[in-house]
Amino acid sequence: MSIFSKFKTLAAGRRELDELGIDPFDVQIDRIISPTEGIIHGRHTILAGTNNYLGLTFDPECIAAARLALEHEGTGTTGSRMANGSYSGHRKLEQELAGFYGKRDGIVFSTGYLANLGMLSTLAGSDDMVLLDADCHASIYDGCRLGGAKTIRFRHNNAEDLAKRMRRLGERAENTLIIVEGLYSMLGDHALLKEIVDVKKEYGGYLLVDEAHSLGVLGERGSGLAEELGLLDDVDFIVGTFSKSLGGAGGFCVSDHAELDLIRYSSRPYIFTASPSPATIATTRQALRTLSAGSHLRKRLHDNAKRLHAGLNALGYTLGAQPSPVVAVVFEGKIEALQFWNDLLELGVYVNLMFPPATPNGSFLIRCSVSAAHTPEQIDTICEAFAKLRVTA
Ligand code: PMP
Repeated sequence: MSIFSKFKTLAAGRRELDELGIDPFDVQIDRIISPTEGIIHGRHTILAGTNNYLGLTFDPECIAAARLALEHEGTGTTGSRMANGSYSGHRKLEQELAGFYGKRDGIVFSTGYLANLGMLSTLAGSDDMVLLDADCHASIYDGCRLGGAKTIRFRHNNAEDLAKRMRRLGERAENTLIIVEGLYSMLGDHALLKEIVDVKKEYGGYLLVDEAHSLGVLGERGSGLAEELGLLDDVDFIVGTFSKSLGGAGGFCVSDHAELDLIRYSSRPYIFTASPSPATIATTRQALRTLSAGSHLRKRLHDNAKRLHAGLNALGYTLGAQPSPVVAVVFEGKIEALQFWNDLLELGVYVNLMFPPATPNGSFLIRCSVSAAHTPEQIDTICEAFAKLRVTA
C-alpha cells in the first residue's frame, strides 16, 4: 500500500481520456484575444465557458487602473495583511463593497474559495450546526469541514426540507447557520431565497448567501439575488468573488454583524496567505464602479442568455433551468458528453464539461457561460454548432 494507491481510480479515468484522445480538464488557450475569443489548438474559438459575465477582463478602465497600481505599488504584497500589513486599497475595497451592499462592513480574501473557507471555518466551529443546500459549491463544504461544524445537507432548493431539519434541531435551530447560493453554478437556477428566509424567520438562525455567480448578474443595482428579491436585510452574510463578473481574482464577505471584523483575527485562510496584489485590488475597484454605474451590461448579458437558451431549447436539448447566464445542457452518459464537448471544440466553440461529483444528481453537463461581451452573431454561431451536432447525434 503506497501513498499513491489512492490515485489508481484517477489514473484509470485519465487512461480512458487518453484512449479517447480528449482531455476537457487540461485545455490550453494558446492565445486570448478578447473576453469571448481565443485560439485553442490553433483554431479561432468562441469562448462560452468562462464566468466572464460582464466581459470586463479587457475593459480599458480596469486595465488602466491595474497599470497604475503596478507602477505605483508594485507587483505583489508579498505577504498576509495580518503579518505584513494592508495596503490602503484593501481597506477601501472593503468599504466600497460594504457600501454597495448597504452593509456595515466588509472583508476581502485572496480568492472566492478562500472567502468561503475563511468565513465558514471561523463562523462555524465544532459546537455549531450548519444546514447547507445540497448543491452548494465545494468551497462551502470545505469551509465547514475546516471549522469542524456539524453539517447537514438539505435537499436542493427545498425550503420544506430545510424547515423539517430546523424543526428537528429544536433550540439549536436558533444558532444554526443556513447556507445557500444566489445562482447555482451548475444548472443556473436561482435559490428560492424568499422561502428560505421565511424558514429562518420562523426558526431563527443565521443566513449566508454565496452570490459568486449572481453578483453583476441579478438585481437592479447588480449586487445579486438578495437585492433582486428585496431580501438584503434578511441575509446575515453575503459572500462573493471577484473572479467572475468583476474579471479579477479575490473574494469577500459583507455583513451588518459587528463581529465580522473579529473574523480577521481568527480566520486561518485570511491570516496565513498573501493578500491580493495591488493590481488585482485596483481592477476590482474599477470593475465594481463600472458595474454600479449602470445596467446596460446586465441587460446585454440577459438578452444573450435568453437568445442562447431559446436557440438550444428550440433544438430540443434538455436544459438545466430557465434562462440565466449559465445555460447547462444535460446529457445521459459520460462518453456521449465527452464526445459532444470535443466536437463542439472542433467546431470552434469552447464550453465547460462538468462531471459528478461537481454536478447535481450525478449528471453530465455541457455548461455554457454567457457574457455581455458576446455579440448576437456569436450566440447564433454557438447555436449553429449545437444544431450541427444535433443532426449527427
Ligand atoms: N463560490 C461559488 C458558488 C463558486 O462557484 C466559486 C467558483 N466557481 C467559488 C465560490 C470560488 O470562487 P473563486 O474561483 O474566485 O475562488
